[in-house]
Amino acid sequence: MRTLQYQNFKNQRVIIRVDFNVPLNDSQEVTDLTRIEAANPTIQHIISQGGSCILLSHLGRPKGNDPKLSLSHILKSVSSVLGLPVDFCSTTIGEEAEAATKALQPGGVLLMENLRYHEEEMSGDITFSKNLSKLGTFYVNDAFGTAHRAHASTSIIAQFFKEKKCFGSLLEKEVLAIEKVMDKGESPILAILGGAKVSSKITIIESLLDKIDHLIIGGGMVYTFTKALGGKVGNSICEPDYCEYALELLEKAKTKGVKIHLPVDVLAGDDFSNNASQKTFDVMEIPEGWEAMDAGPKSQTIFNDIILGCKTILWNGPMGVFEFPNFAKGTIAAGNSIAAATKAGAFSLVGGGDSVAAVKQFGFENKMSYISTGGGAMLESLEGKTLPGIAALNK
Ligand code: AMP
Repeated sequence: MRTLQYQNFKNQRVIIRVDFNVPLNDSQEVTDLTRIEAANPTIQHIISQGGSCILLSHLGRPKGNDPKLSLSHILKSVSSVLGLPVDFCSTTIGEEAEAATKALQPGGVLLMENLRYHEEEMSGDITFSKNLSKLGTFYVNDAFGTAHRAHASTSIIAQFFKEKKCFGSLLEKEVLAIEKVMDKGESPILAILGGAKVSSKITIIESLLDKIDHLIIGGGMVYTFTKALGGKVGNSICEPDYCEYALELLEKAKTKGVKIHLPVDVLAGDDFSNNASQKTFDVMEIPEGWEAMDAGPKSQTIFNDIILGCKTILWNGPMGVFEFPNFAKGTIAAGNSIAAATKAGAFSLVGGGDSVAAVKQFGFENKMSYISTGGGAMLESLEGKTLPGIAALNK
């Protein structure tokens, strides 16, 4: 891996592909600085080594030059997180943009306009990529969140920098964290998969089965499995078309020596709402009119014992409808158990949008070994795919 610390940035104008796709409120103010903070170490390193930084990012999915999605809205936040003056360039490529980047002095930082104002960014257009490359003398990719895209700025651009390209420190950390689970994990290795649907996690489950010792299945996925096993699911979320697949998966796990753990009891509501009446049922005996929305107390205890017995833990997807506080206990319990295992020396990686949201909401952020910043990129890595943004840096 070409990493940041072995490069010479003195007097280099460094194009850094960052992921500043941050949430904005109706007044176009940044409501969560996490992604900007995550890019800060790379920027500070390059500046401390005598380079200047040209920050490239996308924001949202604009149709044309939508002023609401101009990166100028985030300029103040970027400057305040970096603790540095940051200039803004209202074009992304072309003469004006090149002149602005050439005028940069060592230590200078320039934020360029939204890459996705140009449709050539997403189509990975080669001429557009070449023009982007003219903005700087060195290319660093620090945008894990878009590393699974073969876009101009995330992948295609890299070929115009023979040796002068490398991983940013965030991208490096993300790749190492995934490697630590998928290739170098200390046994026993546990994956906890929750979330809404089996259908969206199939390829992940398949590729994980070769790597792990235990799999806890939680969330709405559970009821496709229990229905397949002859259980009653009541009104719980279920994908009958995937029942056969669920049975195959249980068989596969058996032959590979992976222990699959489903909840034994569940907390159900008589309506899909926080204020629904609640009842706990055996997971195989959920009556009509009741929808299982969380792991029950017995399951929480069983899961806790499994989690505490493992040395490497991957968590993707909540254990229930955690957005409803009355159905969040199973997700909180899993978070507490993973935090305790981590404290006792296990390596824990949390990834995938909703589990990251849950971890932040319930205050586990500093109690996990690593929390991934990339949703789709993380999931594709777990599926065993080589991400285009990473492959391009290794060429
Ligand atoms: P995913 O994006 O597949 O990880 O799904 C996350 C979503 O799954 C969250 O919004 C949860 O509310 C939802 N979820 C988790 N457990 C259940 C359940 N038992 N029934 C319905 N939705 C669930």
